[in-house]
Amino acid sequence: MEVELTPTIGIGNYNRDNEHSQAPVAENQEQVTEISKSWTIEDSEKIYRIEGWGEPYFSINAAGHVTVSPKGDRGGSLDLLELIVALKQRNLGLPLLIRFSDILADRIERLHACFAKAIARYKYPGTYLGAFPIKCNQHRHLVEDLVRFGQPYQFALEVGSKPELMIALATLKTPDALLICNGYKDREYIETALLAMRLGQKPVIVIEQVEEVHLVMRAALALEIEPVIGLRAKLSTQGTGRWGQSTGDRAKFGLTIPEILTCVEQLRDAGNLSYLQLLHFHIGSQISAISAIKDAIREASQIYIELCALGANMHYLDVGGGLAVDYDGSKTNFHASKNYNMQNYANDIVAAVKDACMARQLPAPVLISESGRAIVSHQSVLIFNVLSTSDVPSETVTPVKETEHLIIRNLWETYYTISVENYQEAYHDAIQFNEEAKSLFSLGYLSITERAQAERLYWSCCQKILEITKTQDYVPDDLEELEKIMASIYYVNLSVFQSVPDAWAINQLFPIMPIHRLDEEPTRLGILADLTCDSDGKIDQFIDLRDVKSVLELHELREVGENLPESEFGNNCSGIIDCCQKKSPSPSKSLEISQNQKSKQPYYLGLFLGGAYQEIMGNLHNLFGEINAVHIRLTPRGYEIEQVVKGDTAAQVLSYVQYEAEDLVESIRRRAEQALQEHQITLAQSQRLLQNYEKSLSSYTYLN
Ligand SMILES: *Cc1c(COP(=O)(O)O)cnc(C)c1O
Repeated sequence: MEVELTPTIGIGNYNRDNEHSQAPVAENQEQVTEISKSWTIEDSEKIYRIEGWGEPYFSINAAGHVTVSPKGDRGGSLDLLELIVALKQRNLGLPLLIRFSDILADRIERLHACFAKAIARYKYPGTYLGAFPIKCNQHRHLVEDLVRFGQPYQFALEVGSKPELMIALATLKTPDALLICNGYKDREYIETALLAMRLGQKPVIVIEQVEEVHLVMRAALALEIEPVIGLRAKLSTQGTGRWGQSTGDRAKFGLTIPEILTCVEQLRDAGNLSYLQLLHFHIGSQISAISAIKDAIREASQIYIELCALGANMHYLDVGGGLAVDYDGSKTNFHASKNYNMQNYANDIVAAVKDACMARQLPAPVLISESGRAIVSHQSVLIFNVLSTSDVPSETVTPVKETEHLIIRNLWETYYTISVENYQEAYHDAIQFNEEAKSLFSLGYLSITERAQAERLYWSCCQKILEITKTQDYVPDDLEELEKIMASIYYVNLSVFQSVPDAWAINQLFPIMPIHRLDEEPTRLGILADLTCDSDGKIDQFIDLRDVKSVLELHELREVGENLPESEFGNNCSGIIDCCQKKSPSPSKSLEISQNQKSKQPYYLGLFLGGAYQEIMGNLHNLFGEINAVHIRLTPRGYEIEQVVKGDTAAQVLSYVQYEAEDLVESIRRRAEQALQEHQITLAQSQRLLQNYEKSLSSYTYLN
């Protein structure tokens, strides 16, 4: 665990019952109250590691809210909580995806600036072109923004399928910009790509399979268009991490060296070798080790040189994707991080290619990178709210009577005697007694009240032991799970399957943290459970400096009216005031369900760096649909909501599975009518049913 709480703080926060604790603990308790009062935003910065992964876009302001500086260090920032409140006032409910167009512009600028700097530093006699692989995020407003912001750099698009090609053809309007065509291709794909040349683009058809050479040559002949052909090499350099299998001898993609030679021969035999101008490779996404990138670029440079020697008209070297994002901010080669920065990446590519070409006195190629993740991850922030929490029982423990069942007395004895000397042993005893209590209950020897008492005592033992483990430098392996077992569950208004599919599918880590109350100590440790009825619909792995943590530091939900600081929600925050008004329960009418009297104040969490891959891979599990999305742009006076893309309504989601709203309503109307005839339902009830049904159809699939 990364939280660097001093032992005294640890005990104070988690010790819920200290009347039976030994003297040292009670003593610590006093210091604690003092220390925890002085919780600062710096402490929050440290536990959520926001500087590591957030710079230069995300930080914490004096009010304890996350701020976004969409232009990085070049000025202008927004308070994320204020933004959410303002968006809620515009009827944009949570979960909500906010895309910051300025971050997108900044990423493109940064990437090009890094390559420009590297080119100047190594006196590289060629140029660099960036290309966006559309598969990373195909959303129209985003791709349109990318093309617009990329215009000064002739920023290109890369496509991997026919539908993506269709997007690129319609969107890419930068004169002479490259359109890199990857993926498996049929005749229609190839013809369409070639014809893009007539619209002023520069399509490059990248051959992934030997058979495609003939297809391209035939289409080119028929259309009388001279194609630019690229070859995708299957490098022997093994990528690292999750996508390491994208290359290597048995990889799915690309041409082996013998296949590359076959392609060259076929092109030469047809007198078309001059078409071959580009070499492409892609060793996988999120390459966390710079050494893998260096190896790949060295191997690719040699292939490039050999292709020149074979007489191809080589012009471009496309290094694919792989430029990683530092999700945990640790700057290591851990899979959620990277041990290099964008400038190192550019330097290594430029230097290696220059060396290779100089050695053979060849002209330097135009360098291309297809950086997707590195361009679009930062621009989107996913905001969702916590609906409720569930904790392990934490009542104060009172001494057990002599007359209680032996098993309960044993548990009490265990609890009472837990100490630094015996806590490991005590843990195993507690587990065993609790198991025995369950068996005794099943056999009818323990009443339900007794079983409840046993369970409470068991949890109290765990709690006390957990406090002790926090004071120890070394925790025995069998106690490591304790923190996870004791974690609170935070129920969140979100579907992991829809909005963070990679957290579920491949255990990808994203930085997640509260976006407010950061000047307040997070006294709970929790995991997140989503709305779906699927036990996989949870997030229980979080970023950490070393490895991964299984619980996240979170704040206790506050009840409405409790300690509501003026500064937190401002004066005109109707989003939050709305909730406050729930405090007075409405006079209960016949059908009115009275409001939960203990309404909670909103607690908002943000998931960051999720702009790549998540949206399109999300699915409709449990029919939670696409979420609301907005595009925000900074203006001299503040910000502007450039686009609002409303999330799915229930009717839309239902139509994906072939239920038509009208038919559904009609069938419910008929059944209600019949029930009315049969006196099974009152008219008021049937009207309420229909109203609710129709209203649900037209509303968001998430909770209000
Ligand atoms: C997926 C993909 C990319 C993007 O990779 P990132 O690591 O996201 O930059 C680039 N090129 C090709 C061919 C791809 O398949």
